[in-house]
Amino acid sequence: QADIAMYQAKKSGRNTLRFFDPKMQGSINTRVALERELRKALDSQQFRLHYQIQVDSSGLPFGVEALIRWLHPERGLVPPFEFISLAEETGLICPIGEWVLETACKQLKLWERHELTQDLIMSVNVSAKQFYQSDFVVKVLEAIHRHDVNPSLLKLELTESMLLDKIEDTISTMNALKAVGVRFSLDDFGTGYSSLQYLKRLPLNQLKIDRSFVRDIAVDSSDEAIVSTIIAMAHSLNLDVIAEGVETDEQKQILLNKGCIHYQGYLFGKPVPIEQLEVMLKQDCLC
Ligand code: C2E
Ligand code: MG
Ligand code: MG
Ligand code: MG
Repeated sequence: QADIAMYQAKKSGRNTLRFFDPKMQGSINTRVALERELRKALDSQQFRLHYQIQVDSSGLPFGVEALIRWLHPERGLVPPFEFISLAEETGLICPIGEWVLETACKQLKLWERHELTQDLIMSVNVSAKQFYQSDFVVKVLEAIHRHDVNPSLLKLELTESMLLDKIEDTISTMNALKAVGVRFSLDDFGTGYSSLQYLKRLPLNQLKIDRSFVRDIAVDSSDEAIVSTIIAMAHSLNLDVIAEGVETDEQKQILLNKGCIHYQGYLFGKPVPIEQLEVMLKQDCLC
């Protein structure tokens, strides 16, 4: 009996201890602190956009993807995976997303002045929370008008998972923006569960093959088969297709042989601040 009591006490003691696990407490504090810091970051303009070129089969850039970074006063450049999901959970992604759109449109306007940049398409990532805000369409149209940019140079990247729950809302939001020329790309394609039934109803312009399929395309025959299927699917739905995460010439060549002629990845350029992007664009050989 005494043994059992001792065992139970120890066990509950352990449970209690676990509850006060300093690591766990630490992570809660970190979250609260991070949320506070994120709000501050917005007010004190600590976010930056980096730009990664997208090229065609001859290596010519036709677009860029804007990717957010957080220039933290102590921690330096913080990548999106460290703060985007918390920003989504707290709703902060909406004002952050507005800042991204605003900054991207401002940049598009500046690009109009130079021959090298005036035709570049700007891709902007949009999160589900942001997309389903009732004033999302208005916000995007306002940004376009405020900066007086050509709407067909703006491409919004959406992900599969966010589109499927509310398919009717999704279609009408997309159509309202498509009516003025805004384009849409389906990001990380292949990682979600889109059926062809849904895909054919969405007013998309582009499928973006997820990096995870491109990575091993040269060595993994099932990844190769998946990529072939995505490219065929895109073509039969009359959509452009772009591969993300292209790092080697071999990967590019395989994609090209399969009919994918648009690429994004370290082979062509990493995401960089605007000054560096402009230097890259001025150089002739990009690959
Ligand atoms: P994503 O939209 O799929 O962006 C592509 C990611 O792949 C970027 O990571 C890019 O730096 C990385 N990448 C591109 N080429 C290569 C390559 O050849 N090799 C490797 N290993 N990686 C490559 P990043 O910039 O860290 O962004 C991660 C994710 O954060 C993005 O994935 C996107 O989902 C999200 N994100 C970034 N900016 C924004 C934003 O402004 N708003 C929202 N809502 N999400 C954003
Ligand atoms: Mg993207
Ligand atoms: Mg992607
Ligand atoms: Mg991705």
